[in-house]
Amino acid sequence: MTKFIALIPAAGIGSRIGNTQPKQYLILNGKPMIYHAIQTLYYSEHITNIVIVLSPSDNIWSQYDWAAFAKKLVVLNCGGATRAESVLNGLKALPNTIPVDEKDWILVHDAARPCLQPTQLKKLIATLTNDEVGGLLAIPVADTLKHSNHDARSIGTASRENLWQAQTPQMFQYKLLTQALSKTDSTTITDDASAVEALGLHPKLVIGDTSNLKVTYPEDLLLAELILKKAQHNDLT
Ligand code: C5P
Repeated sequence: MTKFIALIPAAGIGSRIGNTQPKQYLILNGKPMIYHAIQTLYYSEHITNIVIVLSPSDNIWSQYDWAAFAKKLVVLNCGGATRAESVLNGLKALPNTIPVDEKDWILVHDAARPCLQPTQLKKLIATLTNDEVGGLLAIPVADTLKHSNHDARSIGTASRENLWQAQTPQMFQYKLLTQALSKTDSTTITDDASAVEALGLHPKLVIGDTSNLKVTYPEDLLLAELILKKAQHNDLT
């Protein structure tokens, strides 16, 4: 049977958030940020394994207790210089650790998106499970988009028609994703779908929601905490 394997690249240093600690380990609601995404993926009935790709020099992961997720966790210390390289290294190392079929679905999810809701994950899987290409959670752009000069002055307005903000998870079959990432320049792409697009394929955009934000700047941390607290509250009521 086709498996659904989550892969979290977590080998970044998170420089834009201005912290000395890699952002996946910043504490959110009492847990390291990456814990929250792992928890949502772990409790999905579809996800069979959760692969974490760490930097070879990571010495923080082992400071926490991950026993609650042990049944599904696979930890690989093969992160690369870019996100794309970390994902590809993880994909290549995977068959040495667990059985993988070329048609198995890989759901790549950023450690920096701790607020993924189970309903969004379910919707992504249900929409794409019979798709020939695969796809990703995304939301249509709502803001007006400006072009700037080097002085941060607006010099024009871009049409937002047909523009989407890509989120994660991004879901593609093992063979396709490995081939796509092997062929692209990992220094220029910032997500998995762009590697697949470069093959001439058109990943499906599955409408997500804005709560699945990416923690990039310090102010995102507070918002992520509020979203997680609200989700926790809803679970209890
Ligand atoms: O820095 P950014 O937010 O774009 O990172 C997105 C995801 O890619 C994060 O989960 C980060 O840890 C991961 N990453 C990685 N290897 C790198 C750079 C980023 O696994 N060299």
